[in-house]
Amino acid sequence: MATLGSPTNTIAILQKYHFYLQKKYGQNFLIDANILEKIVDAAGVNADDCVLEIGPGIGTMTQYLCERAREVVAVEIDQKLIPILEQETLAPYHNITIINEDILKVDINAIVQEKNNNKPIKIVANLPYYITTPIIMTLFESHVPLDSITIMVQKEVAERMQAGPGTKDYGALSLAVCYYAKPEIIMTVPAGCFMPRPNVDSAVIKLTSYNKPQITVSNEKLMFDIIHASFNQRRKTLVNGLRNAAGLNITRESVLAALKEMGLPPTIRGEALTLEQFATLTQLLYS
Ligand code: SAM
Repeated sequence: MATLGSPTNTIAILQKYHFYLQKKYGQNFLIDANILEKIVDAAGVNADDCVLEIGPGIGTMTQYLCERAREVVAVEIDQKLIPILEQETLAPYHNITIINEDILKVDINAIVQEKNNNKPIKIVANLPYYITTPIIMTLFESHVPLDSITIMVQKEVAERMQAGPGTKDYGALSLAVCYYAKPEIIMTVPAGCFMPRPNVDSAVIKLTSYNKPQITVSNEKLMFDIIHASFNQRRKTLVNGLRNAAGLNITRESVLAALKEMGLPPTIRGEALTLEQFATLTQLLYS
């Protein structure tokens, strides 16, 4: 079978199965073989690997993954794509498991247990842009054994993941990535490499998991609740952001005391704090 990474072959499959692309599922399929090769190369997929692909679409990148990996699991929400994958594009491969589910609902830990004996997996995907952040946060927060995540995302989101304190792109996502993984933008990808063309710029980013988080914090969930509250009201000072946050039960006085102990001014905003400083703040507020 001809590989799918071209406009002609993709159109042929879509027509054969009377498949209409769904905007609500973020269906922008890759049609550039060169970019597909580069993504799989950047992910460093080899014959020992178990790879999870989120949103295989018609199986374009999945074919590349099946050629290189020991085992591939592809989770696709759109039921109409399943016959295309099973009967056509992935039919020649025996190392693929196709799961028709929402990636935010599927038990990824159970997949890793079953398919890779709970050893770290590689995630490779051209993500649906409408749920990029929830997918990344779910992967991190559910503590799935991960080697790396190599994903196509909106260029702006890739920049947010790499941003440091004090920049306009810095936020809860940057801090989560910084805590769990080392980010590296691999390349930007023009809209013409997709069908249909997205109306935003895209980039491939690789997040390589740390064996253990870069900093020690006794209550990780609490630290991220504080981080989220600090960025919810970006234009407010940290003191006002945290004091107003529902569920945190933090008083203005306690935040002021913690900031003083940390040698930070009372007017500081959340966007100026590093991950280490958020960890210290959490410790001081709840010690
Ligand atoms: N991998 C294909 C490619 O590169 O051509 C398709 C990528 S397309 C950007 C995103 C894919 O994710 C679509 O196939 C879409 O149906 C699927 N998708 C969207 N939401 C999903 C979800 N919640 N869970 C699993 N798959 C999802």
